[in-house]
Amino acid sequence: MDSIFTRIIKGEIPSYKIAENDCCFAFLDINPLAKGHTLLVPKKEVDYLFDLDNALYTELMLFAKKIAPAIEKTVPCERIGMAVLGLEVPHAHIHLVPIRSIADLDFSKPKLKLCESEFSALAAGIRANLD
Ligand code: AMP
Repeated sequence: MDSIFTRIIKGEIPSYKIAENDCCFAFLDINPLAKGHTLLVPKKEVDYLFDLDNALYTELMLFAKKIAPAIEKTVPCERIGMAVLGLEVPHAHIHLVPIRSIADLDFSKPKLKLCESEFSALAAGIRANLD
């Protein structure tokens, strides 16, 4: 069975899409730690990030390098933090989270509750700031 992220990539489940290329897909995390919290996923379904082959791993990191500045321009923050957990969804992904302090990357914190219009506005803002 396809992972929830594969279903998002295929368009079977809605998402607040940020960008995609041949091998990677970016969309807003639905339970964000901060406004602009974005997930980057390889289209190929591999559970563990560090099992990706070198080429795809590199593509995903380069994709992060493209998306992070757009988030940073959209959401007031000090910088963009990057995290890998994968404890919930067995499809490799990177979290990009706007941060101001170390506590902003604490995934045990309660997540933000945003409404659809807030998610849509954030996604549109980030997309508009992509180079
Ligand atoms: P983890 O696997 O521990 O890195 O966590 C998976 C992340 O995926 C969590 O932060 C979830 O909020 C997020 N997530 C799960 N389902 C969706 C979805 N349908 N759309 C956006 N984000 C999701």
